[in-house]
Amino acid sequence: MRRHLLPVLIFLLLATQLFLHAQANKKTGGPQTPSQFLGFETGADRKLADYRQISAYLKSLAAASSRVEIEVLGKTTLGEEMIMAVISTEENLRNKAKYREIARKLADPRGLAPEQIEALTAEGKSIFLLTCNIHSTEIGSSQMAMEWAYKLATTSDPETLHRLGDVIVLLVPSLNPDGQIMVTEWYRKYLGTKYEGGAMPYLYHHYVGHDNNRDWYMLTQIETKNVNRMVYHEWFPQFWLDEHQMGSYGPRIYIPPNADPVAKLVNPLVHRGNNLIGASMGWRLEEAGKSGVIYNYSFDAYWPGGTRNTGWWKNMFGVLTEVASARIATPMNISPTELQGGIKGLIQYEQQINFPNPWPGGTWRLRDIMDYELLVSDASLETMSKYRHDFLRGVAAMAGQAVRSADAATFWRIPAEGQHDPITASRLVALMLEHGVEVRLSGDRKTYLIATAQPYGRFADEMLGIQRYPEVRLAPNSGILEPYDVAAWSLPLMMGVQAERVKIAAEEQRSSTVIQSAIWPGGGLPGKAAYYSVADRQNNVFALVNTMQKAGGSVFLHRALGETPTIVFAAHPQLAASAEKLHLHLDSLPAFPAGTTPLRPLRIGLYKPYIPSIDEGWTRFLLEQYGFNVKNIENKEMRAGNLNGNFDVVILPDSSKEVIVEGRGGREGAEEFPPEYTGGIGKEGVRALRDFAEKGGTLIALAHASEALIGEDFGLPVRNAVSATGAGEARRAVSTSDFNIPGSLLRVYVDSTHPVGYGMPEETAAFVDAPLAFQTSSPAPDTQRSVIAWYPDDPRDILLSGYAHGAEKLARKAAIVAFTRGKGRIVVFGFRVQHRAQTEATFPLLFNAIEWGAAE
Ligand SMILES: [Zn+2]
Repeated sequence: MRRHLLPVLIFLLLATQLFLHAQANKKTGGPQTPSQFLGFETGADRKLADYRQISAYLKSLAAASSRVEIEVLGKTTLGEEMIMAVISTEENLRNKAKYREIARKLADPRGLAPEQIEALTAEGKSIFLLTCNIHSTEIGSSQMAMEWAYKLATTSDPETLHRLGDVIVLLVPSLNPDGQIMVTEWYRKYLGTKYEGGAMPYLYHHYVGHDNNRDWYMLTQIETKNVNRMVYHEWFPQFWLDEHQMGSYGPRIYIPPNADPVAKLVNPLVHRGNNLIGASMGWRLEEAGKSGVIYNYSFDAYWPGGTRNTGWWKNMFGVLTEVASARIATPMNISPTELQGGIKGLIQYEQQINFPNPWPGGTWRLRDIMDYELLVSDASLETMSKYRHDFLRGVAAMAGQAVRSADAATFWRIPAEGQHDPITASRLVALMLEHGVEVRLSGDRKTYLIATAQPYGRFADEMLGIQRYPEVRLAPNSGILEPYDVAAWSLPLMMGVQAERVKIAAEEQRSSTVIQSAIWPGGGLPGKAAYYSVADRQNNVFALVNTMQKAGGSVFLHRALGETPTIVFAAHPQLAASAEKLHLHLDSLPAFPAGTTPLRPLRIGLYKPYIPSIDEGWTRFLLEQYGFNVKNIENKEMRAGNLNGNFDVVILPDSSKEVIVEGRGGREGAEEFPPEYTGGIGKEGVRALRDFAEKGGTLIALAHASEALIGEDFGLPVRNAVSATGAGEARRAVSTSDFNIPGSLLRVYVDSTHPVGYGMPEETAAFVDAPLAFQTSSPAPDTQRSVIAWYPDDPRDILLSGYAHGAEKLARKAAIVAFTRGKGRIVVFGFRVQHRAQTEATFPLLFNAIEWGAAE
């Protein structure tokens, strides 16, 4: 009964809304306010518009106003339409192609004389990108976007109209529409219950949750790609404001200046421009009586992984704001005694020069969040108007300096041939092109060349070079400032691609040409044969194995002593097209080789805890990308046991033992979920995993999840070598003053004769972000253990890129260990083997671990 009632109600609601909408338009002839359109007051307690409503509103505004146009950025992961409102005067919108072109030329002013740059600066308009709600629970800005758009579309205030004459606003109401919808639905579902405004027991992006703001140099997600294309290929905004929310018990809003440390390669003018905008934000907030404004707090100027800050290396101004959160749309009453600092820039919650007017406590609601956001949006528009010429000229000046300050003969040289995995090398080149970096191909088509002397040259240097984290101390004898996120993003190391920064002879430069797309290795079959083979050393081989198994083809593993193992495919109607698509060239085999074992298709179970594991999402994303047959396993199924009936491989993603076994701890530790989402796999689940491995399954634990397997329950001869107190207590036992590797690339050696190490080079870069390495010992007769990867003997050899304090604790310790016991296999990874789908160099270790049991 109830099931049929809901659609009817929704229909009636929509029909009423459409009717009211039509009425209002008839009456006023102009656009409706968001509240009129939605039928409720925007920003009111416990009221939220979901993304579809927001998008419908902005479209209605565009239909009714000549100051608003809608551009579609693309589809989202779950198929929503991702939109952007372009807002300016009617005249500017009519000429938007011209202004885009001016912005493009100023972003790459090579070949322009100073007078030409001045002329473009005089003629151009500031382009101001405002993005909202990348983190879905930070919901205020998605609601604010409607109000601000309405205000700009309908105002008759001469000052605002003047600003719109100077500035073209690009307003993205949500960088993650899918998550905005998930959060609104969850919020509405639990309104009026004790769970109102609480966290969801799943990720708010289908794959990557909060990490959608960690994807801006690797561009793996479709939403990131959509926006990246608009920014660096279509609009070239001079300024990007990204509006976020932070915790509830500290300052009310963070504005620039950023906190330390600061990235060496970013042009200092970026910070000058950002601080100018920040100063105007602070002024307008204070003037409006808004307290609790802080700067130089928490958010550094070093890390390039989030929205607007990737653009700093591309001569773009970019600012982050963070407003204190309510419980989604539910007000919070915060007692003065609950206010706290404890973060870089505000150790005690008290008046400081960067926090001159502390918020005294009280009620904090969605309306407050939106009001602060409206003020910083307005202040940005004001500054982009007032300093229009400076921002336009500033971008061109920084681009010019990037070209002039670099050595014209110095290039990044990426050989197209002779790479360990040539497809991954092409992928790196394609990624650079996607970022707007200029790439050249040598005359003999064998080498890619990336000039350091180009507008995005400093971005190329940042991404292709190695990082050394600056050890900034704020006072003598104080500890160093810790990185905000990870400390390394050296793409060649992460991807296993050879790239070197070298001088290129003038002749080679002259014979090279600029390319628009990467050259991919030619794939396909050499001719007709019954069997084909390919060396098992390229990531795409795994994708071809999975594709052919899904198509019903036969796939084999061929091992010969002392040789790199190869994969053998039986002839199949889809083989040629699939190999071509994956850029894999197969050799034909004269005869079916001896020493060949069939590879059976595998059913992979990926554990999904209720305390969301972002690594679960990344792992699922990566395995789907490579065509693995992966399904989630939740607690109930785990506890029920008999996992072998449904799965050949079970993967525990990076989550702590407490999260996995008991369903407590983790970042959202204090959150209470509805009862159906509580608990972990429990003792039964641990027993089920042990049974699964003993009866022939392959059990894989990623990073912290290894704590669940190396304790006494499994009796494996291994412990965490970095922990002071033994297995399972790693994070609590080691303080960052003894060991701090916050996401760095470390050298490990690999045993490529073991199935888990097949096809790997002797040494590779492992992404490490936790005090976790293994000390093994000689096992009981029923167990075999193999150390698959290990750290160098000499601590000085360990760090490749990033920051490593206490690296000596890793010296000569194991990084990956594989066990066999009974009929089954267990593999524990001490580092982040597929971190954020970025570490292509080590993907094969995970894929091999999955496939280990397929040949038996
Ligand atoms: Zn955020």
